[in-house]
Amino acid sequence: MIAAAAQMGVPTVEDLNSLDSSGFGYQPRNIWKGKRQSAAKVFLRPAMQRPNVTVITGTDVLRLTHAGKRVTGVRIRNAQGERDVAAREVILSAGALNSPTLLQRSGIGPAAHLRSVGVEVLHDAPGVGHNMREHRLLRAQYRLRKGSENASFQGAGLYLSALRYFLLKSGPLTSAAFEVGGFIRTEPGSGRPDAQLGMGPMSIDSSTPGLSLHGFPGAMCGGYVMRPESRGSILIGGPDIATPAIIDPNYLATDYDRRVSVALFRFIRTMFAQPALAPFVVEEIDPSAGIETDDEIIDAYHRIGGAGYHAAGTCRMGEDEASVVDTRLRVRGVEGLRVVDISVMPSLVSGNTNAPAMAMASRAGELILADAD
Ligand SMILES: Cc1cc2nc3c(=O)[nH]c(=O)nc-3n(C[C@H](O)[C@H](O)[C@H](O)COP(=O)(O)OP(=O)(O)OC[C@H]3O[C@@H](n4cnc5c(N)ncnc54)[C@H](O)[C@@H]3O)c2cc1C
Repeated sequence: MIAAAAQMGVPTVEDLNSLDSSGFGYQPRNIWKGKRQSAAKVFLRPAMQRPNVTVITGTDVLRLTHAGKRVTGVRIRNAQGERDVAAREVILSAGALNSPTLLQRSGIGPAAHLRSVGVEVLHDAPGVGHNMREHRLLRAQYRLRKGSENASFQGAGLYLSALRYFLLKSGPLTSAAFEVGGFIRTEPGSGRPDAQLGMGPMSIDSSTPGLSLHGFPGAMCGGYVMRPESRGSILIGGPDIATPAIIDPNYLATDYDRRVSVALFRFIRTMFAQPALAPFVVEEIDPSAGIETDDEIIDAYHRIGGAGYHAAGTCRMGEDEASVVDTRLRVRGVEGLRVVDISVMPSLVSGNTNAPAMAMASRAGELILADAD
C-alpha cells in the first residue's frame, strides 16, 4: 500500500507525525514489548504510589454536587451504594460522550432541554453537548491472492500466532490492525491533507454475526474526512444515568464533507489498481464492491460505514462567551470545575485522538498547578 501510494505521487515517510503534508507510512503505535499501553497503565499506575492519590474503580459518577454556583464534588454510586465525594476542584474527564451528559445531568447545559427532561438548571450553557465532531469511516475490502493475515487469526493459524506471542512477544497478535496509514489531499486548493486512510492486512466477513474474518486472504482500507465540518449533538434523555442519551452525529451534512468522503474512497480504489498492489488483488468484495456513483458512495458511508471512534468537541473550548470552557479549561458560569478530555477540542485534530488527549492532559496538569499556586 505504501508503494502503491507512492506510485500515485504520495511520498513515503518514516514518521507520520512529522508531516503537515501528504504521506504514507507505518502507523505510530502505543505498543511496548508486544503489548498495547493505556494511559492508565503508563501514567496512572506509577502515580498511584503517591500517598495523596486514591483511585476508586467500578464506580459511576452520577452528577456533580454544588453549593450555589460552586461545584463542591461528585455524587458516586458503586457496589457499596451512593455517596458524595467532596473536592476543592473537580476535573471532569469522562470523554466526549459522557462529560457533556454528566454536566447536563448536573444542571449545566441548554436550559430549555434540561427543563424538558426534568433537570433543574444550575447554569444555562447552550453549547454543552453541541458541536460534536466525529469521523465517518468507510472501508473498501479486497480478496487477495497472498499477503493477508486473515489466516493468522483463525484456526491453526491462531494457535501459531498465540504461541509466537507468548514465546516471543511478536507476530500478528501484537499488531495494531491498521498497520499502515496515510494522509492525502483530495482537494487541490486545500493546502494541508484533508483525508486520512488506514489499511489492515485482513478482511471482515460481514455475512456472519460477530467479528469474524474471511476464510480466504483479504485486506481492507478505510478512510475519513480529517476535519469534518458537520456538527452533531448529544443530549440527555432524562435525569437518570441509565436513561440513554439522544445522539445525533449528523454525519456528512456539508458539501465539503461529502466531496472529500467520495474522493478519498475513489483514491482507495485507484490505489488498489496500482502496479504495486494489483498483482495481490483478486477482486473488490463486500461491503464495498458494486458501489459506483457519488450518491451510492455517500449512501454507503451512512449505511455500512462506521464511527471513527473519535467523537470530540461537545464541551468546546474558546475565548468567546458561548464556549463551554475557557482557555484554562474552566467551565464557564460555575466555579471549581474543569473539563479535561477531547470534548474540549473546538474541532477535530488532523488525525487520531488518543495522543492529543494525552498531550492535552499534560498541558492541563500545568494549568491546574499554576492556578493552584
Ligand atoms: C474502539 C476504539 C478504538 C480507538 N482506536 C484509536 C486508535 O487506534 N488511535 C487513537 O489515537 N485513538 C483511538 N481511539 C480514540 C481514543 O481512544 C479516544 O479519543 C481517547 O481515549 C479520548 O480520551 P478521553 O480522555 O477524552 O476519553 P476516554 O478515554 O473515553 O476516557 C473517559 C473515561 O471516563 C470514564 N467515565 C465516563 N463516564 C463516567 C461516569 N459517569 N462515571 C465514571 N467514569 C466515567 C470512562 O469509563 C473512561 O474511562 C479509539 C476509540 C475507540 C472507542
